[in-house]
Amino acid sequence: MDLLSESKNPRFKNETSSPVTPTAATTNSTITGTTPPNRYENQKRRDWNTFCQYLRNHRPPLSLALCSGAHVLEFLHYLDQFGKTKVHNQNCPFFGLPNPPAPCPCPLRQAWGSLDALIGRLRAAFEENGGNPESNPFGARAVRIYLRDVRDFQSKARGVSYEKKRKRPKPKIGANATTTATAATT
Ligand SMILES: [Zn+2]
Repeated sequence: MDLLSESKNPRFKNETSSPVTPTAATTNSTITGTTPPNRYENQKRRDWNTFCQYLRNHRPPLSLALCSGAHVLEFLHYLDQFGKTKVHNQNCPFFGLPNPPAPCPCPLRQAWGSLDALIGRLRAAFEENGGNPESNPFGARAVRIYLRDVRDFQSKARGVSYEKKRKRPKPKIGANATTTATAATT
């Protein structure tokens, strides 16, 4: 279950050295367009398999056709337990400090950049696997709002702005890539 740590490294190259440090967030925002299509496709397939596995283990049982934005949010919360990004609580003395001077008990979460890229890949995979674009749960309004809130909160909690130098990947691999690119918009 390390799909996110795996997925992060090729896309956010600067982060490979120390993904756990709070400063890693500054590099998260830079989504380069350099990811080779094969790598993207492989990652997308792995992410899709992970999500299908999650559905199979879901209690009560959940089929893809019944999957809604709320279930996607459930999935993202589930992934947070594997997160490596320190996100300070509002009452933590280090809230808003990019380089805290000492450890604190605040939780580790998935970084916004990882979640945003993941949702883009799953959104494309859903339609490639026969899902109806009209009811794509990964494009649900609730998911977009959630991602925006995560971005805003993580940027406040860690004293970094996700707005600076944010580049969108150019769609390189045909029509499906456009869904990914639009998923990154708010
Ligand atoms: Zn803290």
